[in-house]
This record gives sequence, C-alpha cells and structure tokens, in this order.
Amino acid sequence: MSHPTQRTLITNAVVVTMNDAHDVHFDGAVAIEGDRIASVGSSADVLADVRDGARIIDAKGGAVMPGLVDLHYHTAIGRGWSDHLPLWQILQEFWYPVVRAIDPEAVYWSALASYAESIRCGVTTVNDMYRHIDALGQAAEEIGIRAVLSNIVADAEHGLDSLEDNASGHRSRDGSANGRIEVKIGIEWLPLASIGLLRDASELAHDLGTGIHIHLNESVGEVEISKEKFGRRPTEVAYECGILGSSTVAAHCVWLSDTEIGLMRDTGTHISHNPTSNAKLGNGVARLLDYLQAGINVGLGHDSTEGVNTGDMFEVMKFASLMQRAVRMDANVLQAGDLLHMVTRNGSDALGHETGMLAEGKKADVIVIELDDVGFTPLVPGNRNQLYSHLAFASHGRAVSTVVIDGAVVMRERELLTVDEEKILRKANEAFVRILDRAHVGSVQTHI
Ligand SMILES: [Zn+2]
Repeated sequence: MSHPTQRTLITNAVVVTMNDAHDVHFDGAVAIEGDRIASVGSSADVLADVRDGARIIDAKGGAVMPGLVDLHYHTAIGRGWSDHLPLWQILQEFWYPVVRAIDPEAVYWSALASYAESIRCGVTTVNDMYRHIDALGQAAEEIGIRAVLSNIVADAEHGLDSLEDNASGHRSRDGSANGRIEVKIGIEWLPLASIGLLRDASELAHDLGTGIHIHLNESVGEVEISKEKFGRRPTEVAYECGILGSSTVAAHCVWLSDTEIGLMRDTGTHISHNPTSNAKLGNGVARLLDYLQAGINVGLGHDSTEGVNTGDMFEVMKFASLMQRAVRMDANVLQAGDLLHMVTRNGSDALGHETGMLAEGKKADVIVIELDDVGFTPLVPGNRNQLYSHLAFASHGRAVSTVVIDGAVVMRERELLTVDEEKILRKANEAFVRILDRAHVGSVQTHI
C-alpha cells in the first residue's frame, strides 16, 4: 500500500467527475496528495500544478471516476448455498443459523473475501451490517476499503447481536484507520425487535453521535407482521421510536405507503435501494421514482452475495433502471447519469462522507475503468452521454483495473496490493465448510 502522504498522479484519463456540472475531462488527469484529491481537470492544467515525486498511474485512456458506494451490504460466507427460497424461509433455514454459528475467525476471512470482490468491482465504500465488528474492522483495515460497520441487533431471544455488542464495536473501531472505518448501530428488522429495543437503539446512536442502519419494509410479509405486532406499518413504528433521521440508512423500502414516504422525506432518512436483491428474493419492485420525486436521497446496495450471488454494483445500477422501466413501461426514466449519481454521490451523502465526486479537497477514492474493450465500442471521442451509457448499462466489475481508496492504491492492473488473495479464497472456503457443519443447515434444495 502506498504511504498516506504520498502524491499520486493519474494521467491519460477520461475523468468523470460526477460534480454538479457533470464535467468530463476527455484528456484529463487527477492529482492526489495524501488522502485527498489535490486537483482535477485537463492534463495540461493538472500537470502544471503537480510537484515532483508523484507516483504515476497511466490510465491508458480509461475512465477515471469516483469509487462506487455499496450502501446496503452484508459480509457473506455462503454464496450459492440457498438460492431458491423466499426471504422469510431463507432467513430461518439458512442465514440466521449460519450467522448464529459464525465466529470471529470465519468473519475475518469472509469479510476479506467479500471486500476483495467489492474492490475488484470498483466499490470503495461498504455499509456492512454483520457480526463481530473487531474482525470486520481488522479485515477492512488490512485490505484498505472504506467501511461503515454495524451489528445485526435483535431482541435477545433471537441469538443475534445486542446493543452492547454494537457499542463495544463502536468503542474499539470507530474512527480507526485514518477515519476510514466507522461504526454505526445496526438493527436487523422489526419482526425481531421490540419497541423497547428500537427506542434504546435510537438513544444509543444519539449518545454515541453515530447513525443507524436498518432493514425497513423489505417484504409484504414484514409489513403484515408489523401491523399484527405493533398495529402500524414498519416505517411508522421506526419513526415513533426515533429511528428515522438524517444519519439513518433504511435498506430496501420496497413497500412504503404514501404516509411512510412522507415520514422518510420529512426526517431526511436515506434509502438504500437494492433492486437485484428485491428481485431475486421475490420481494417486489420499490416505488423508486416516487422516492426520488419526493426528494428522498436514494443510494444503491447489493445486499449480500448469499442473496444475489455477486457484489457487482454495475449490475445493481442496471437493474435499478431496467426494473423501473419495465414496470412503468417508460424507457425515459432512470437514465445513465441518474444511475451513476446514485451509486457515487447519493451513497456518499447517505453516509455523510466526503467522497462520491472527483473535486479538489474530496477524499481520494478513485477507480479506473478500462475503455479499450469491445464492450465499450464504439465510443465517439468527446461524447459524454455515450460514455455515461457505457458506464451505467454496458460496464461490469471486471472492467475495473485500478482502485485508490483514501489516497492508497489498493488494486493496480487488477492485482490486489494489500492482501494475499489466494490465501483469502482458501481460508474463506475453509471457513464456510467449518461453519456449515456447526450450523446444521441442510443442502441446497432445487427442482432438479
Ligand atoms: Zn440486508
């Protein structure tokens, strides 16, 4: 990993800034000093400013853009093991038994494998709700990803995490690695939470000066349970317990009523829209356009690879648009520029970060996407709209060649520089086999 005070210069780049003017510098460069972006612009302008001694990254004509933000994330240990069950069943029969059985060692290797995949796909920030925050923090610190961590907090009888576990994780890891790692309060969901727990979670987040990460209105079943258990819909209950607010990320929100949309808007709550997860688990299609129209800040998340099999946010971006267009029968909505904005700036804003845009003074989370590829052909020189379309609709994680996070080069020419990837894959496999045995979950059930 490069030294934090090092200067890095990315040259020979098509710089996609994602600034308010949507500036793209077709013969551009980005200069990084320490953990911040020092300058962005045409090659001539940036090079004139740069002092000697910078490490040079030749983008070879590739697109250089802000790193992607995965706003709803769970480290995953068991991809591809339970693929054809509805949400409630997959949780009861696979995910809860597995996450109850995991230990810090298994979490550490699974987190390294999950984060390695994300970095390979151009993700520089993960909003990861999982267990054993020390192990997650250790993995994030070593691999170099920007990570917002939280526990899976539920009422005690469910055998998951407590608010004290989360507070302890906050004490040990919040603000570590030059502020690259933060800890927020994670609440699993309302079917596993009491009013008392929700109120205590809100109070704890307030006392610690941190935010909240919660699943809300993911499935019709969840809404029905909430109505039976509390007499109100999930977001109404969350509002009354002080869970909503400008430091809260609510994941999914597939089934929001008009009243609940109003509560999200009025409290400044951020939504993580997770279309691939919602589709694969049969949960439905969120009213995304209504949320955006209401002025709610909406970012994108993949959820977990146990649910959707890949952490590739380019796939999530594309699904976000295609599902809305299919349902609305309208090819004009959620255009490429909107999607790129959601996966960078909206995600960053939701977490209160200084990333998501290439501009002087911002944190240096930057990725390089190779454009010299048949999948991005043709590309008319100087045409921003065609470039945006390629990035949002034709790209995929494997097109990402180089990743810089907090000013440090963590992947160069598709090689992870911070960790031994071969060892991670081996250890992550061993961890799953070990935990599978302990969790007593059955084998894959399919029609065949
Ligand atoms: Zn989730």
